[in-house]
Amino acid sequence: MKPPRIGIGTDLHRLVPGRPCILGGQTLDCAVGPEGHSDGDALLHALCDALLGAAGMDDLGTLFRDSDPRWKDAQSTLFLEETLRLVRQAGMEPVSVDIVIHCDRPRIGPHRATLRQSLAEALDLDLSRVNLKGKSLESTNHGPETIEVIAVAILSED
Ligand code: MG
Repeated sequence: MKPPRIGIGTDLHRLVPGRPCILGGQTLDCAVGPEGHSDGDALLHALCDALLGAAGMDDLGTLFRDSDPRWKDAQSTLFLEETLRLVRQAGMEPVSVDIVIHCDRPRIGPHRATLRQSLAEALDLDLSRVNLKGKSLESTNHGPETIEVIAVAILSED
């Protein structure tokens, strides 16, 4: 077994009225949702970039160009599936991930358990190896309302 690999990914989206609030592949009940070429799922975008970064591969924006009409309004679960396929094809496997979500809306606490569970299933990991937490912006966001996600992933390699 080779030494483990670590990767970090971040993503930032504006939150606007009239868009579904999609996070971690789930649609949350919220008056605002992420603007974006795809579904704007900042959690899955950051997670994919962490996995790709750990694998030494191109980032999400290079693999899924936002100028490509194939990805217009694409579900980001598709990006995660493709990312995992590439990672596994290269002989690597997720070992653990940790995620921080910065936003004032939606509140993450009530959704934390279901988000963890669905990510653990998508990554084929034990629940204890997938963690996430929400943090408020503490009144520091004076521009447009945003959601920002930071993800760290560790991969094992054959
Ligand atoms: Mg994004």
